[in-house]
Amino acid sequence: MDRLRTGKASELSESSIAVWIAASALEEIRTEAGRWPHQETGGMLLGYWAGVEVVVTDVVGPGPCAVHKPASFSPDHDWQLERLAETYTASGRVVTYLGDWHTHPGGAPAPSARDRRTMRRIRRSGRARQRRPLMVIVGPTPSSTPKVWCLPSGTFPRALSFTEIEVI
Ligand SMILES: [Zn+2]
Repeated sequence: MDRLRTGKASELSESSIAVWIAASALEEIRTEAGRWPHQETGGMLLGYWAGVEVVVTDVVGPGPCAVHKPASFSPDHDWQLERLAETYTASGRVVTYLGDWHTHPGGAPAPSARDRRTMRRIRRSGRARQRRPLMVIVGPTPSSTPKVWCLPSGTFPRALSFTEIEVI
């Protein structure tokens, strides 16, 4: 009975997740996506959670040694971790890793089976300390409106609407 109640409570809070994305972060995603119209690119989403609200304040790009292919890409992980550490420190340890963003050139902005596995792995990983991984997907073109996904529980990510904000 307790377990059932817990499940219901978490589902209630999940349905009210609000996503805020800094206009500058969205602009960076659009610019980077535009550089690779026929190959995948992406990076990290940085920000913070406050209850059931999440604010994406910054994005990290793919990095100089990333490998871009039509249906996959491998980020320059070391470079990304350096950017993450810089932003984390500069923000007074508030802004941290929330999840990833990437493009689907010519494809729908929905998580692939591999994307879903990635989100489950992030949720499991103690290192990322991320219970509700976010994923932003841009497709089919670099100028398509990004779609935001979150995996608070279960196997299938849910699509969330988002609001663009100015971070001063
Ligand atoms: Zn994908």
